[in-house]
Amino acid sequence: MYAAIAKLVMISDDNNRPYDMNKIKRAYKYAYRLHDGQFRASGEPYIMHPVAVAEIVASLGLDTDSVCAALLHDTVEDCGNEISIEIIRKEFGPTVELLVDGLTKLVQIPFDDKEEEHMENLRKMFLAMAKDVRVIFIKLCDRLHNMRTLMAKPEKKRRITALETMQVYAPLAHRLGMQRIKQELENISLQYLDPIGYDEVRTDIEDKYGANIDFIARTKDILYEKLGENGLTFNIDGRVKSVYSIYRKMFSQNKSFDEIYDFYAFRIITATELECYTVMGIIHDAFKSMPGRFKDYISTPKPNMYQSLHTTVIGRDGIPFEVQIRTKKMHQIAEYGVAAHWKYKSGIKESDESFDEKLRWISKLIESEEGTRDSDEFMRALKVDIVQDEIFVFTPKGDVITLPQGATLIDFAYSIHSAVGNKMVGAKINGIIAPIDRIPNNGDIVQIITSSSSKGPSRDWLKVVKTGEARSKIRQWFKKERKTENIMVGKAEIEREFRKYGRPYTPAQRDEILANLGHRIGMASVEDLFNTIGYGGLAVAKIAVKLKDEFDRVVALPPEEPTALEVEKIAVKPGKKNKGGVVVDGVDGCEVKFARCCNPLPGDSIVGFITKGYGISIHKSDCPNVILGESNPANAGRFISAHWEKEASKSSGDGNMFEAIMQVFAENDLMLLADLTAALAEMRVSLHQINTQMKSQGIIVNMVVGCRDIDHFRSIMSRLKSVNHVIDVKRGYT
Ligand code: MN
Repeated sequence: MYAAIAKLVMISDDNNRPYDMNKIKRAYKYAYRLHDGQFRASGEPYIMHPVAVAEIVASLGLDTDSVCAALLHDTVEDCGNEISIEIIRKEFGPTVELLVDGLTKLVQIPFDDKEEEHMENLRKMFLAMAKDVRVIFIKLCDRLHNMRTLMAKPEKKRRITALETMQVYAPLAHRLGMQRIKQELENISLQYLDPIGYDEVRTDIEDKYGANIDFIARTKDILYEKLGENGLTFNIDGRVKSVYSIYRKMFSQNKSFDEIYDFYAFRIITATELECYTVMGIIHDAFKSMPGRFKDYISTPKPNMYQSLHTTVIGRDGIPFEVQIRTKKMHQIAEYGVAAHWKYKSGIKESDESFDEKLRWISKLIESEEGTRDSDEFMRALKVDIVQDEIFVFTPKGDVITLPQGATLIDFAYSIHSAVGNKMVGAKINGIIAPIDRIPNNGDIVQIITSSSSKGPSRDWLKVVKTGEARSKIRQWFKKERKTENIMVGKAEIEREFRKYGRPYTPAQRDEILANLGHRIGMASVEDLFNTIGYGGLAVAKIAVKLKDEFDRVVALPPEEPTALEVEKIAVKPGKKNKGGVVVDGVDGCEVKFARCCNPLPGDSIVGFITKGYGISIHKSDCPNVILGESNPANAGRFISAHWEKEASKSSGDGNMFEAIMQVFAENDLMLLADLTAALAEMRVSLHQINTQMKSQGIIVNMVVGCRDIDHFRSIMSRLKSVNHVIDVKRGYT
């Protein structure tokens, strides 16, 4: 039974750290049982996938809990209700629970839209990652194994998975400094995203490598000789760069294959940091170096902890090659990134401030997102903070500030300190005054001009800045410093939105609407809502639909202006089916009301409209509000077909159960109203409302009368047409 995890045991032994093999075996047994009978697309038993993932996890040097979580990572999601996350906690403890939960997609919540679902899952993963970064290590191992076995999936799925890997997971691996995983993910993704391009580059590499078959060996010899003379301990590794890295250079710099310099790369691993610089000096003495290609990531590590010296020199026959020089420890970090940390530590991560510092961007990402409640913003922050390439900009003192590509001088100021950003009044690039929304170039020296009399950031900056950090710091400032102003701005924005509805409302109604809305979106008070809108934490456009919805609930439509579809009234004395004899397709036991605007009658062609919270309102199919409403995309899916029950009119037993509106056009005559009411009384028709409108040509009498159905209504109309002085009778709308 344990043959399957023999390799895992071996790797664990290699890691030279105390593993709880019993716990790992228990996790294996559990996963084995739960995946029993499941198969991968390749036809292999499912269990081989979690085992393979656990092997990769173990080879990264991660601990027992990570290995267990890797074994269990698909059990909750794929095995349905059979196992729940609570059982995992009981059996394997809260850490494994946290890890597995972070790796489990949100399956319980149905999403309307794939995009939204995808984003929510990513968001969940990042939240879990902020709590424990091991979540993402395991996720990357999971993705790596899925990519290695992607061939078994259908074509369409392969492309989607490869694209997601390229857009999210490879950059994430890069951000965490896990170069080895990153490169493999990119290389495999490229094979599926551009198989032809991949093959071309690979063939080119093979051709070129064939032509310079001994270049690597010879250069290595020279390096050994030169370095050996100086009595250093070192190790040299030479290779041709990956297909993807060459492919990317060709496309991003629009170069042909022959124009690529960084084709060969040598790595020299030394014992100490000082030796790195010594080696660099020797290489620059021995070879002609290419200007502008020297980079010192030892004194200024990359944000993902990467440290190394880089240079490109010209070798034999004028062939350039890149050299990376670093210590053994730096090398581990270059290959495994943040994960290498676990390799060197046997305990849990704690009290390691420099390490936590390296991961601070994760919590920053989450924080800047929490300030806004805006899901688009999260994706934007994710793209900018993780996916984007970085540039290096210098302070006048020579400190390096790393910024995502496209960041402005405002972003630069805020990345130095929030106080610098808040007091910024101008900036200089390389000594020349530049507008603060300018985007600096790699290597620029940027000076921020601050003034103690600065009034603070401008709200427009929020539209300009690129980094989540700057955006969240600007918002923080407004949130704190300008509360009164925010409240005014927020209130004005809401009121502007209200004015679009063109209906009057009282301050009490406004407060009620906003309290309801605040409750719906999780704001503690109306003031909070105003403040959040005011400081830019929430866009009114984002809540416009909910706002209108609450407005319609609270502010009733004036009767002479029936513009909404949701105005309805309770059916008069419902029939035995208590739906007023209406059958709404596919909806059972739902409250049905008749729209006040058109008062449908049995026999009329009707349609249902799903109101928000008040059941279904029934309109005449030709009701002007329906015709108007159908053209509004916001109502998509809210119209539902409905028809009258057979004999709806007779089931009531009450001839006056429905109300209908009648408009009588007549010459003005003193006896008119008396004649009309007498005619109705004669027909035993009840009169519920009556009013008159004087017109120059005569009089319009609006009446609401009780009737059985459309036929009954028509007979009432024709009877009234015969009343003295009546010109015409029509069905009316309020
Ligand atoms: Mn998996």
